[in-house]
Parts: sequence; C-alpha cells; structure tokens
Amino acid sequence: MQIAFIGLGNMGAPMAINLHKAGHSVKAFDLSADALAKVRAEGLQVATSAQDAVQGAEAVVTMLPASQHVEGLFLGNGNLLASIAKGTLVIDSSTIAAATSQKVAKAAEAAGIDFIDAPVSGGTGGAIAGTLTFMVGGTDAQLQRARPLLEKMGANIFHAGAVGAGQTAKICNNMLLGILMVGTSEAIALGVANGLDPKVLSEIMRRSSGGNWALEKYNPFPGVHENAPASKGYAGGFGTDLMLKDLGLAQENAIATKASTPLGGMARAIYAAHSIAGHGGEDFSSVIKMVQKKG
Ligand code: NAD
Repeated sequence: MQIAFIGLGNMGAPMAINLHKAGHSVKAFDLSADALAKVRAEGLQVATSAQDAVQGAEAVVTMLPASQHVEGLFLGNGNLLASIAKGTLVIDSSTIAAATSQKVAKAAEAAGIDFIDAPVSGGTGGAIAGTLTFMVGGTDAQLQRARPLLEKMGANIFHAGAVGAGQTAKICNNMLLGILMVGTSEAIALGVANGLDPKVLSEIMRRSSGGNWALEKYNPFPGVHENAPASKGYAGGFGTDLMLKDLGLAQENAIATKASTPLGGMARAIYAAHSIAGHGGEDFSSVIKMVQKKG
C-alpha cells in the first residue's frame, strides 16, 4: 500500500519504519530535516512537503505533537484535506483534544475522506517493537480498513467508540500515568533518602501491591532500567511538555463534564512547575527531580 506518514519524531519515526519493514511503500514528511534524514537512512522515501507526501497515497498516518498541529495541517494554512484523494483513509495517532478530532473528521467526511483518531500507548519502546496499544475512535467499517496497518505498528487494538473516543480513552490513561509517575518518584526518593538501594526498593515494590508500569519498564531513577530515558539523561522518550499537554486536556475535559479529578489537577501543577524549572524537553520521568533531595 502507498502510505503517507507525517510527523517523524520519537514515536512517528519508528512507526513509519515498521510500516516500511512490513512491505508498504511509505513516503514520509516532517518539518525537521534531521527527522527526515533518519528515516531516509532506513530506506523510506522522503517527501518535500505534506502535499507531496499525500500524492497517490491510499492511506495517511499523522503523528504530531498537539491539537494545533493537526488542525493546522489538515484545515489551516496547509489545508491538506484538499490535497488528499477522495476515499483515502486518514489515521491520526497524535494525542489531541477529542473535539479537534471530531472537527477534522467532519471536514474529512464532507470531502469523502475516512478520518479516525487512533492515539497510542506503549512509549518509544513499544513504537520500535511494534507493540503499541491503539485506542480507536471511528466507525466499525473505518476500523476494519485501518486494522491491517495498525497491526503492523501495534499489538493491541481497541475500539473506544465514535470519532474522538480514542482521544478520551487516551487522556484517561495518561492522567493515570502522570499521577503514577509522580507517586513512584516520591516512593523511590523517600527510600533513597533513607539509604535504600533504588534498584532493590524498585524490585520490592514491583513485586508488591505498589507494582506499576513505571516500575516494570520505565523507572524514573537512573540506572535501574538500562533502556529507560532516566538512564540516558532523560533524553528521548515522552517529553514533560507533552505530558503537561495531556494533563491539560484531561483537566479541560473534567471541567466540561464536571468530573472530579483532584490528583489529575495536582499532577498537572507538578509537571507545569517542572517544565517552568527548565525540564520541559526532558522525558517526563525526570519529574523525580522535583522530589529528590539535592546533594
Ligand atoms: P515529537 O515532538 O518527538 O515529534 C513530533 C514531530 O512532529 C516532530 O518531529 C516535529 O518536527 C513534527 N511536526 C510538527 N508539526 C509538523 C507539521 N506540520 N508537519 C510535519 N511534521 C510536523 O513527539 P512524539 O514524542 O513523537 O509524540 C507525538 C504524539 O504522540 C504526541 O501527541 C504525543 O503526546 C503522543 N505520544 C507520545 C508518546 C511518547 O512516548 N513519546 C507516547 C504516546 C503518545
């Protein structure tokens, strides 16, 4: 299949590479020349613009940072929808506001284009391994069209509901992730302040009732998990500012639906303070710095 892939960052690049490895013809585009060079080295075709990428494409996949990037690309200055052929399937895997997914989907439908939201979980490790979890918002028929492509990038595919529902599921998950990373950081920092070995303490908690995803594979303390961002100077991974965006989406949603999310609100405030302190570009697990004893 001829696929256009737009947005080749920490997540998009390995996802596009997996589609290429599965035998699809992938034409990739990103605003960053470095990002393009990386996928060109893996054998992918590189487009000169988003418009160029979608020429002749039967499917388009986007993996962009936030709502404004997705809306800007499809409906704004880029007006990419006008360049996409009728009948094309568009899969947006970015984590954005459900309302934005619905707005773009409505415009796509008017142009005869199938647009679904399919945000992911599983981190950069899951993107590289092709084991992501997809949370899809769209019709049964649209998901059926997308499934063969999603299966090349992920291991779990869930139909959350109508368009936008994937985004709602995703922000619920990420609100929990943001909270649990702060909680896990606090627990490890407390143990270390009392002279415990972070590796030993993490293993005890992993096998006990405090066990969670961070303790399994994304420990915030350097040196516990060799491949986690914490052991690489908090480089790569899932940026603090992206987590801050997701916690903001969760709070906006909670306000609109009058839901009570006290820990989600507190977590947003903690990541905001962490970002302002200069850690916005680091992986979100660097939030442990907020609770670690200095010196
Ligand atoms: P990233 O910042 O590493 O990559 C985003 C890429 O999009 C960049 O390379 C940027 O140049 C490109 N871009 C921005 N606007 C563009 C445009 N108009 N045209 C072409 N390219 C454009 O972000 P990421 O970590 O890959 O995350 C992407 C999305 O996936 C975000 O919504 C994020 O919340 C979500 N997500 C990330 C992770 C993770 O672990 N990193 C996990 C799950 C979901």
